[in-house]
Amino acid sequence: MKTRLELEAGDITRLQVDAIVNAANSSLLGGGGVDGAIHRAGGPKILEECRAIRARQGGCETGQAVITTAGDLPSKHVIHTVGPVWRGGDFEEARLLADCYRHSLELAVRHGLKSIAFPCISTGVYGYPPELAAPLAVQTVTEFCRSQTGIERVVFCVFSPKDEQLYRDVLKA
Ligand code: ADP
Repeated sequence: MKTRLELEAGDITRLQVDAIVNAANSSLLGGGGVDGAIHRAGGPKILEECRAIRARQGGCETGQAVITTAGDLPSKHVIHTVGPVWRGGDFEEARLLADCYRHSLELAVRHGLKSIAFPCISTGVYGYPPELAAPLAVQTVTEFCRSQTGIERVVFCVFSPKDEQLYRDVLKA
């Protein structure tokens, strides 16, 4: 079955999908931006699970992903992935950002999930240029979903009007 790619504007914590993706930091202990919003809306259960993962494997490296339940959120799981900090583009930022999308999707497949929503990873505090991140995100997801993954729906959740326009253009192209 072909995967549907969708665009949603607004708060990712409100989406009813099998998993929302969190743009976490490597400590997994919460932060600002979308990370803060997810932990605020999802309650303490998510952080508790993140702490347990941290105790087991010592956090999460850039480009990797881990999965927890979603506490009080309407989604079933949260996939926490750590985006690269933008340092000008010569430090494997593109490969690492693509890894975030791929590893999150791999986790979703491994857990038999059918729908997943991504925020614009790394484009907030981590400074990745949104006009470079949007096509990379869409291309990476499209390539991953070419094989039979069981994922029926991927939502790109945009929070700013600028990102909404960027994704609209990329998805149309
Ligand atoms: P990073 O540290 O990876 O840059 P940020 O959380 O600072 O992560 O920003 C990543 C993206 O998430 C930005 O585009 C930001 O506008 C967006 N964002 C912030 N809050 C939310 C939210 N509640 N729902 C969806 N996206 C959000």
